[in-house]
Parts: sequence; structure tokens; C-alpha cells
Amino acid sequence: MRIIDKIYIDGSFVTPHGEEFFDLVNPAKGEVIGKVRLGDAEDARRAIAAAKRAFPSFSQTSKEERIALLHRLHDAVLAKAEALTEVTIEEYGGPVSRAAWATQYAADCFLNAAKTLEQYEFTRRIGTAQVIMEPLGVVGLITPWNNDYGFICNKLSTAIAAGCTAVVKPSEMSASQTQILTECLHDAGLPAGVFNIVNGRGDVVGSELSSHPDIAKISFTGSTAVGKAILRTAAETMKRVTLELGGKSPTLVLDDADFAEAIPHVIAAGFANSGQACIAGTRVLVPESRTAEFNELLKTAVENIKVGDPRDPATAIGPMVSQKQYERVQRYIHLGVEAGATILIGGEGRPDGLENGYFVKPTVFTGVSNDMTIAREEIFGPVLCVLTYSSEEEAIAIANDTVYGLQAYVISSNPAHARTVASRILAGRVLINGFHNEPMAPFGGFKQSGIGREYGVFGLEAYLEPKSVIAAA
Ligand code: NAD
Repeated sequence: MRIIDKIYIDGSFVTPHGEEFFDLVNPAKGEVIGKVRLGDAEDARRAIAAAKRAFPSFSQTSKEERIALLHRLHDAVLAKAEALTEVTIEEYGGPVSRAAWATQYAADCFLNAAKTLEQYEFTRRIGTAQVIMEPLGVVGLITPWNNDYGFICNKLSTAIAAGCTAVVKPSEMSASQTQILTECLHDAGLPAGVFNIVNGRGDVVGSELSSHPDIAKISFTGSTAVGKAILRTAAETMKRVTLELGGKSPTLVLDDADFAEAIPHVIAAGFANSGQACIAGTRVLVPESRTAEFNELLKTAVENIKVGDPRDPATAIGPMVSQKQYERVQRYIHLGVEAGATILIGGEGRPDGLENGYFVKPTVFTGVSNDMTIAREEIFGPVLCVLTYSSEEEAIAIANDTVYGLQAYVISSNPAHARTVASRILAGRVLINGFHNEPMAPFGGFKQSGIGREYGVFGLEAYLEPKSVIAAA
């Protein structure tokens, strides 16, 4: 049984003041594998104080020093890549291909931040003014379980590039993963207090960060409901916020698409991260006249998806992260049936032979209308809704008829046509013909999918405050 009973403050692993323990579970087996001792508000305040002490000298480091530090952090994460991947499979449910990707993503965040920093000028002239971009101060970074250390590395690397110091509040469910990450960061020789991490509950440690007057900014990735709560709390001290929230992304399969080519893109976007992805393309919009052809191909493709042992390289879909998440997905599948949608494949219950873990059947609903709960709310599991449209105007209207606007997908055999449609979609990112990433381009949501952007120069500037110095002529 693994016991994680330390948090990381001021460059040291220390015992939390909080005394509550939380069970860590292997979701593929439904077995408890360890316990994490949770910090409390007092621990959050100790971490904030350490970050505040570290800020004056860290904010004065040169760009070159911080670039060198970011390279060391990249190397330190890669040095424990195997351990990180292994624990991601065990604690999160992998699968191995996705877990290895997550580790590489985490390491790459530091290189990408270094590249951004290399090209960035912290001072510029605008008319008679000298405009200086100054680091905001101590930032609170709050992350969810579905790519926890990846999100931490993305936020932390940007904060470090800017010259900010940070207190991180990860999900308590990822404690084994974030423990290894913390060891990596410690090994890289980060100056004490620049990075602090406090395991704990959202409504205890997370809310202390969002309300504390010494925190200048919160960067949060998680649900829209919690994002709204953080925004309300942060308003009291006028904190800057970056909120990366939920999604209900449309995948527009245009009339000119070759369906045989389209289906792998639909599957990759729809079932990414076992469906536990904010960017999952879960509303698949298909031309009415070609629905039968599309559904047949999609059904065959989903039948061939391997669900199960996250250690098997052939597995594409692992378990849901927790019993709670399993039940949530089951409830939505039930709601879909109740609302009159048709199950093309999948449905309620566990897949055959996978009775012990939190596995769900990859499920596709057809006959879905956009006002059904399964088309409006984020399910966060491998459940796709196929909706039909009779004109491109209607397809665009359905795609935009959502409170979310994080990511969208357009599939077409004509790139110019796809770009025209993309220009009319209300989403922070639109991917054409694939499930790919550009790590230097801004990422973030329209509407209730969030506020602000991460990655590249847009991400960096979210940790900086412009100051204009204007001397009399
Ligand atoms: P969540 O909102 O429940 O929790 C996220 C984090 O916030 C956790 O660390 C949690 O402990 C903390 N938290 C909870 N209550 C808090 C409070 N009152 N104050 C401060 N912090 C609090 O989300 P989750 O279930 O862990 O993750 C799934 C959600 O994250 C989904 O909605 C998904 O779409 C979203 N997500 C968004 C992105 C993105 O980039 N836009 C990426 C991944 C996940």
C-alpha cells in the first residue's frame, strides 16, 4: 500500500497540517492501491507564503536563466518518464499509448515555454512610452485528474517563463502521478518556493488559493461549474484568471467528405482519452442523405475498438477514472435511452469480461436531437451522439447551439470548403481533417468553455502585466 503523506513547500517535502486521508484506486481493477494525506487551508497558506518570499528574487532572474531552468525541468521530467507512464496506467487507467503521450506532452511543455521565451521581448516602445511586461506575482494553479501532471507542466512552465512563482493544487485522485512529477521538479534544482504543491480538496485548498489576497492569478482547468465558483471568489481580490473549462465539441462531417477517411478522425476525436477529454468531439453532425452509410461504417469501427487492460498496447479505451465517473457516464447513457435516442452500439453496463474495473461500453447514439440532455451536457466518457442535418446552414447552427465553444472538428475532402465552415464555428480551436495539435497556437474556449488562452505567446502574456512608463518630453 502506497502512502503519500508529504506535500512540497519551499523546496522541501513536508508533513501537511491536514490529517484527512483519501484512497487512491486502480480504476482498471477497482482496488485501493494507496492513500494520500490531504493538506488543508493552513497548508495552502504556508505554500502561498513560501511562493511570496521567493517572488522578489525569482522575478528578477534573467530570461537566459529561466530558459536554462526550463531545459533542466524538461530533462528532469524525461528522466522519470517510465515511472510517470507506469503510474499513470496504474492510477488513471492509461491506456499505455495515451500514458506515454501524456508524459512526453508534460516534458515538451517546458521546451515550448523556453522557445516562447527565447523570442519574447519584455519591453517595447509604443509612442513615447516604454511598455514593460512584468510578472504578475504568485499564481495559483488548479488542475483536474484527466491529464493532471500534463496540465501542471503546461501552467507551471508558462508561469516560470514569465518569472512568477506558483502554488499548485492538483486533483487528489492523481496524487501518485503528481508525487513523481514533484520529485522530477525537485531534482531539477528549482529555487525554493518557486514551485509548491499542496494535495487537498477543491473546496478547501482550491478555495483558499482563489480567495487569498497574495495570489495574483488563478489558472484553472476543470469543470465549468467550478470555474464559475472560482471566478466569483476571485472577483473579491480582482485576481486575473485563466479558465479552461468544459466542452461539447461538434464534429462536422461535410457532405463532400469521404466517410472511410472521416471515420478514423471521428473516432480519434470522439473517444480521445477514453472519452474523458474536454475537447472530445461528442456531437457528430452527418448529412441526412448519407446517414445510413455513415452509421454502418461507424458501427463497424467502434466494434473494433479494444476496451480493457490499459497495459495492452492495442487498448484504445481504458476504464473511467473512478466509480463516480463510471456512474455518471451510465446515468447519461440511461438518459439517452429515456429520451428516445437509439443505441447504435454499446449501451448501459460493463463490457463482457470486464466486470471488476470502471469500464464502460463505447456507445454511439443515433436519432439524437440537439435539445436532448446527452447532446447538451458534457458526459466525459466514450459516448457519441450522431445528429443529422439537411443543409450546411443547419449543420453550422447545430454546431453553435451550445453553451460551450472549446474545440470543433470539420471533415471534408475540400480544404477551402472546410476553412469556410471553420470560420463560422464559435470555438477557440477548429481542427480540419484530424486530431492534431499545434502547441504554440492559442488554446482556450469561447463562451462557457472558459476565459483566456494557454500556449505560446498568448499563454505567456496571461502571466504578465503591462506597465507603461512615459517620461515628459
Ligand atoms: P473539477 O472542476 O471537479 O475539478 C478540477 C479541480 O478543481 C480539482 O483539482 C478540484 O479539486 C478543484 N476544485 C473543486 N472545487 C473547487 C473550488 N470550489 N475551488 C477551487 N478548486 C476546486 O473537474 P474534474 O472533474 O476534476 O475534471 C473534469 C472537468 O475538467 C471537465 O468538465 C472537463 O471538460 C474539464 N477540463 C477542461 C480542460 C480544458 O482545457 N478546457 C481540460 C481538461 C478538463
